[in-house]
Amino acid sequence: MTKKSVDDLAIFGGEPLYVEPLHVGRPNIVDREKFLQRVNDLLDRRTLTNYGPYVQEFERRMAELVGVRHCIAVCNATMGLEAVIRALGLSGEVIAPSFTFIATAHSLQIQGIKPVFCDVDASTHNIDPDRIRECISPRTTGIVGVHVWGRACDVRALSDLANEYGLKLYFDAAHALACSYQGDMIGSFGEAEVFSFHATKFVNSFEGGMIATNRDELAEAIRLMINFGFRGYDNVLSLGTNGKMSEVSAAMGLTNLENLPVIISKNRENYENYRERLNGFSGIRLIAYDEREQNNYQYIVVEIDEEMAGISRDLLTQLFHAENILVRRYFYPGCHQMQPYRTLYPNAGLHLPNTERLVQRVMTLPTGLSIDSADILTIVDLLDFILLHQNRIRKMLFRQSSPSGK
Ligand SMILES: *Cc1c(COP(=O)(O)O)cnc(C)c1O
Repeated sequence: MTKKSVDDLAIFGGEPLYVEPLHVGRPNIVDREKFLQRVNDLLDRRTLTNYGPYVQEFERRMAELVGVRHCIAVCNATMGLEAVIRALGLSGEVIAPSFTFIATAHSLQIQGIKPVFCDVDASTHNIDPDRIRECISPRTTGIVGVHVWGRACDVRALSDLANEYGLKLYFDAAHALACSYQGDMIGSFGEAEVFSFHATKFVNSFEGGMIATNRDELAEAIRLMINFGFRGYDNVLSLGTNGKMSEVSAAMGLTNLENLPVIISKNRENYENYRERLNGFSGIRLIAYDEREQNNYQYIVVEIDEEMAGISRDLLTQLFHAENILVRRYFYPGCHQMQPYRTLYPNAGLHLPNTERLVQRVMTLPTGLSIDSADILTIVDLLDFILLHQNRIRKMLFRQSSPSGK
């Protein structure tokens, strides 16, 4: 790190530490040769979509990895969530966290189902089973858990609640590929779980998703639904949509899946590197992965305690962005603060104290195949430098922003 004085910070006109920005969720690209070979194959075959051999292979490999009876490839996880919700026959209200990506809520609302936002546990960041009961109404039909950062929800407690109230439980597992809950792979819990292979996820298929379920009838209904309700030629059995994954996406997904151990071990190395270096920073807490479980380590998540650190998450973000280190605020500002929920349910935040606190504190740091130990050193040194000089930084920012120049 080359900052000698506060004036060298990019926000005050110094050289940014990076010319090319460092991203959170920069796509991992592995084994280009193998991917291109598969693309050639699919072009030769002229099978571009409609449940071709790569999609079938991708589904098979995923079912093996996750240990589940059915894996159904879809064009993206949002479509996967929509299909699950519809196939489960959910209606009225479904209990969901607000501390998640917006698709968890949108996939309900777009079908006229109200997501009733439930607060999360302050330490796990996952939906808090102890807060579910107060969200249940006569209109409630389901619960959706999100395994945030790949750290499993309290699946047992949620299942017990779902059983007690006769609700359908499903999971947004977009973060949780290759992660476990009490030793069992995520993918087999609840009625169904949905993985994402979006470009920013650690295993990508450009765009893509996978629905995992052990329920035969549900799998059957979903397969029909994502293919217009077609059963064979000219025979449509039911209302449906087009949620199919294309062959080129499956070729990418397969190639990345084959390299899963490589990606995870790099993520893990980065995580351990950050953990070591961030140790001892007051007010900066790295979210830990439970080493008794399988983890994909795809997110480096820190919570900034403004009182202890002295500095806010938002000011840190601003300073990092100026250096072209594109740390991200998650899941800022929370689903309930985004439209249409903000207008529809203006008081939702009153019941979400932990969520409201987390969206002000959580920041994710760059990791993945394109980040190495030198980058991590740079990032942590910059953080150290900022914390050390924060009073002077604030003074200079104040001077910059006051029109008199004083
Ligand atoms: C990425 C993500 C989604 C959406 O996945 P797509 O494949 O982009 O539709 C849904 N939920 C969570 C928690 C996500 O992180």
